[in-house]
Amino acid sequence: MEDETDADITPQMDKNEPNKRQNCKICERPLKVCWCNYLPNPKVTLKSNTSVIIIQHPSEKKRKIRTALMAVHGLDAGDCKIFSRRKVTETDDLSKLLKLSNAYILYPTKDSRNINDVAHNTEHKSLIILDGTWDEAKKIYSRSPVLQRLPTIHLELKNKSEYVVRTQPSETCLSTIETVAHSLATLENDPTISERLLKPLHMLCKFQLAHGAVEHDNKSYKRVKIDTPLSGDIPEDIT
Ligand SMILES: [Zn+2]
Repeated sequence: MEDETDADITPQMDKNEPNKRQNCKICERPLKVCWCNYLPNPKVTLKSNTSVIIIQHPSEKKRKIRTALMAVHGLDAGDCKIFSRRKVTETDDLSKLLKLSNAYILYPTKDSRNINDVAHNTEHKSLIILDGTWDEAKKIYSRSPVLQRLPTIHLELKNKSEYVVRTQPSETCLSTIETVAHSLATLENDPTISERLLKPLHMLCKFQLAHGAVEHDNKSYKRVKIDTPLSGDIPEDIT
């Protein structure tokens, strides 16, 4: 497999790193559209003994508009990590981490449980989120028996995605930061967590719209790129 990256790629805030192409070192966006000032301050502290593991398809890293870093930098250091993978093998260190961390994967299946059902569990748990297009997420899952053995959960939300710039294939598909924010708000029983974590997303959308992006109606657009399709509605091609 080409370009297989097995490292934990959660960015560190290294101030000595050269500033490539005038991009912010934290959010990796051009400085003029940096969303870092809208990150929660102080960062969101989780009381529910939860950590977030984002498994990001390597292609996602190449996309300009992505939202996983909003979760990494919006939560206390170490509470959200990104791993770049096309699949998770049995011998992967990540696989060992999943076995040790009471992991649940946000992935809608016929048998997945509503995330509300696990909110009362106060033991340490990891929330696994697949980050990429719907097709990429599906491939990561189908190539990774390690992930298929994890209990699946899904979110049920009434509101459609606020991520108006990068089109979602249906009203129930969410960007990665929305998935993280709403999941944690449920697990922590604290709706303010969503509001705090989603401010950078609102600014990203505002910047993009101000710079000529078109607000897309999710159903009117065919060539879609989504972050994480994790809601209760299961697209036909996943079952
Ligand atoms: Zn920034």
